[in-house]
Amino acid sequence: MARVDYPGVVGELIGELKRLPGVGPRSAERIAIWLLQNERANPLELAAALHTAKTEVRSCPLCGFFATSTGCSVCDDTRRDDARLCVVEQPAEVLPIERSGAFNGRYHCLGGKLSPLDNVTPEDLRIGELVRRVSASPEPVEVVLAVGADVEGEATASYLADVLRGKNCQVTRLAQGLPAGGGLEFADDLTLTRAFEGRKNF
Ligand code: ZN
Repeated sequence: MARVDYPGVVGELIGELKRLPGVGPRSAERIAIWLLQNERANPLELAAALHTAKTEVRSCPLCGFFATSTGCSVCDDTRRDDARLCVVEQPAEVLPIERSGAFNGRYHCLGGKLSPLDNVTPEDLRIGELVRRVSASPEPVEVVLAVGADVEGEATASYLADVLRGKNCQVTRLAQGLPAGGGLEFADDLTLTRAFEGRKNF
């Protein structure tokens, strides 16, 4: 029995869309057809925006936040408090903290958290860079650990406190109340503000 399917190029497009987070096979098909047929769709502009963003955006060598050839909006900001350094797992977690207005210091994005089960070791994270940053600071730094409250986040926080011990810094941890394992990006402004205000020595 003959079977009809989309042309191969459409199948490839659906296959790429299916790889996106939260997009199942049905949604991928719907999005592909919408992109190809809907008059409001701008698939070529979308492709160009993707290409430009992917080639332009890099990781800031100092803090790990999103940077471009014109620099890093966090590190280049001279109005920030150099004596406070907030450590997050992922660069996207800087944004909810910034929106909450609870913190006006610098950031350090680790690029993940320690996870022996997933073979993520200290060498895979930007921990050496963090220690060098703290050591290079001319004044004492408060290192605010804003890593997750799940098992891996706690292990990461303990490890960081160990390697920073004796360095020119005070290590604090955000107050509990953040969703365990949910990540900072899902926390509301008030929760984040309270978590910053209630941070404790760690
Ligand atoms: Zn930076």
